Amino acid sequence: RRDEAIALVRRGMTETPDFPEPGILFRDLSGLFADPEGLPVVGEALLTVHDGFGPFDAVAGVEARGFVLGTAAALAGGAGMLAVRKAGKLPGAVLTERYALEYGTAALEVHPDTLPAGSRVLVVDDVLATGGTLAATLRLIERAGWEVAGVAVVIELDGLDGRAALPDGVPVGALLTL
Ligand code: AMP
Repeated sequence: RRDEAIALVRRGMTETPDFPEPGILFRDLSGLFADPEGLPVVGEALLTVHDGFGPFDAVAGVEARGFVLGTAAALAGGAGMLAVRKAGKLPGAVLTERYALEYGTAALEVHPDTLPAGSRVLVVDDVLATGGTLAATLRLIERAGWEVAGVAVVIELDGLDGRAALPDGVPVGALLTL
């Protein structure tokens, strides 16, 4: 199943040099999302990229590609989906975390009352690059009073050491390292 997921990712991924800036090799998974087998197989495979995740109540996905993968993983795991939004999209009193990207800066937000206190959350994203996005997501989850079950990504970029940006002790798994 894992091998099947990896083959589907390789088939559904495009690699574009110098996008959106010179020096970035951009991996896009639109083809995987459009493949009828892609999301069910990869969503399920994300749950097994590390054996230390333990039980979880929700899968968090970061806007926008994390919504697609997070929803697929949430459905496969019988869990809820926590939408981690880009700044300015959520009404009311939100928690905000700023972070640096491989290119540029941004901020992410959640409502602290979306899940009950102590909920266990598995965080999913397409690409782990510098780890800034996922580190900010983990800080949001902690500040909201939830527990991080782990981090599952489709692609981990080798050489950027994104794992080092994440707190020690958080299980981190990737389907593919490129
Ligand atoms: P980072 O915060 O540096 O780990 O970047 C991770 C986020 O930026 C992910 O949500 C990706 O969607 C996006 N990203 C960063 N680098 C790339 C890349 N080379 N190809 C595709 N997406 C990327």
